Amino acid sequence: MFNVPLSLHAHSEFLKKLVFKLFCSMNITEIDRKYIWHPFTPQKWMADPIAIKNGKGTLLFDENGKAYIDAISSWWVTLHGHAHQLIAEKLYDQAKQLEQVIFAGFTHAPAVQLAASLIELLPDHIQKIFYSDNGSTSTEVALKMSIQYWWNKGTGRKKILAFNNSYHGDTLGAMSVSDRSVFTAPFTDLLAEVIFIDTPDENNIPKIIEQINENGDDIACFIYEPLVQGAGGMKMYKAALLDRILKACKLHNVICIADEVMTGFGRTGKIFASEYMDEQPDIFCLSKGLTGGTMALGVTACSQKIHDAYISDDKKKTFFHGHSFTANPLACAVANASLELLLLPETKKTIERITAFNKKVSPIVAGYTSVKNVRSLGTILAFELKLGKDEYLNDVAQQVTGFCLDKGVYLRPLGNTIYWMPPYCITDEELEKVLDTVIRFLEFTVALSNA
Ligand SMILES: *Cc1c(COP(=O)(O)O)cnc(C)c1O
Repeated sequence: MFNVPLSLHAHSEFLKKLVFKLFCSMNITEIDRKYIWHPFTPQKWMADPIAIKNGKGTLLFDENGKAYIDAISSWWVTLHGHAHQLIAEKLYDQAKQLEQVIFAGFTHAPAVQLAASLIELLPDHIQKIFYSDNGSTSTEVALKMSIQYWWNKGTGRKKILAFNNSYHGDTLGAMSVSDRSVFTAPFTDLLAEVIFIDTPDENNIPKIIEQINENGDDIACFIYEPLVQGAGGMKMYKAALLDRILKACKLHNVICIADEVMTGFGRTGKIFASEYMDEQPDIFCLSKGLTGGTMALGVTACSQKIHDAYISDDKKKTFFHGHSFTANPLACAVANASLELLLLPETKKTIERITAFNKKVSPIVAGYTSVKNVRSLGTILAFELKLGKDEYLNDVAQQVTGFCLDKGVYLRPLGNTIYWMPPYCITDEELEKVLDTVIRFLEFTVALSNA
């Protein structure tokens, strides 16, 4: 398009026609296919994306008005439901006041209010909030902050410790500390060197502790998803085991980074999953539910001790990191509204209601022979479908999604792991419908394998 010398007038005519096509002929999907490259989507065999016109509560409505229960909170972000009235109002109010301002040398009330609220909710030693704009940047910042902490202190510590099967985001640094998989294969040579330890169970914990002790004084930081490895298939592990690992790390002064991008803001039944442990991290990474799923925002919250390593007469010890949309006022205003909703007694009750539902239905799901490893923590329930090899690339995930969409439920399995993680406004009826749809899929596969 750039080499066509279009006049401004021709551009605006083109846009007008496009808008006309979009809103009159309503063929959004067709125009999408022409221009857009979607995330995590194989470009060959790509199914037509569904155009969503609006949302309300747990429901998403497509162009034809068909409703889908958003049982995975639109990739784990939506907390209080779609198009929430209070959040929308706060967003509009803020937009009329101030939509964006450079955050170096300037500040604003929404950012200050949010920082103070988060510091109040986080453990006492967490004293400083560093803003960015998504989950990957929140972990990237945590890693850089930790490495430079040791650099500022004049030591050579720079090894990083992470779990196998982990996921911390898609930028190069975040990818480095994530499990080596089909996601990272083309970049293997470019990734930072990381010591990987297994996700803990009763059998491997001595070996893990040994690995930590062997490398201890060279390890700058340990990054982990507390209790639930999200993208790694909702793999869950015990708080007591994580406590033992954190203790071992702390013996060697390793900076502990809890990546609560997914687990934060009530998903596991507590505001932060770290509340299940005695040992607390030095850094928290937050995003996704931080704004209730309305705007992109990231937070890296650290202890006073880490921050103080950056107080120096030497300007080289400055943390030279920032993003254009750091602490965007709209995102902060919306995060404040979402926190207000999260802390209501009604929300606590509804999280408990979903938690109880998950506990109640786990044995029912486990009763199907095609199912293994049914587990739940708080509002998350997950299990695997029994399959042969190549479980992640197997197209069962698409089959599940297609089957459920047809029945008005949106699920997006991680390989052969089926899970739900609904917005907290989900009703009992809607929960039953999600369960019922999953059971119908399980019965359908049994019928297929018997055919
Ligand atoms: C989603 C996720 C990220 C990355 O967040 P983005 O906003 O998608 O970049 C990082 N860590 C965890 C645990 C996540 O679930």
